[in-house]
Amino acid sequence: MAIRTCPICMAKVSAGQVVAYSDTIECPGCRAQFEVSPVSRVLATTLGLMAAALVWQLTRRMGGSLGWVLPVVYAFFGYSVVAPLFLMATADLVTKSAAAPSETTAVAAPGAIGHHHSGAHH
Ligand SMILES: [Zn+2]
Repeated sequence: MAIRTCPICMAKVSAGQVVAYSDTIECPGCRAQFEVSPVSRVLATTLGLMAAALVWQLTRRMGGSLGWVLPVVYAFFGYSVVAPLFLMATADLVTKSAAAPSETTAVAAPGAIGHHHSGAHH
């Protein structure tokens, strides 16, 4: 398991990239495209939700006029802090499965080159 390293050229990927572009990450070394592995993502989400539940449990006993809103807000922040932190620490990168080569279609057809200059007057 390579944490935040390119599986192809072993270049380090910055933590910010892993968190911000967890759908598609471009390698700074070889320009390969990969994504955070589903395992890392599921773990981060689970941990974030657990943190959110914990925060909600701790804060929902606080009174006040906004007593029912604040625990939800705190829980949301708990989730949005813990999940990225976990991803930063452990993100396992895999090459993108839908990497279809699409650059071979731009080759010009040989028969269509040039006009027919048949009118040579002289
Ligand atoms: Zn690479």
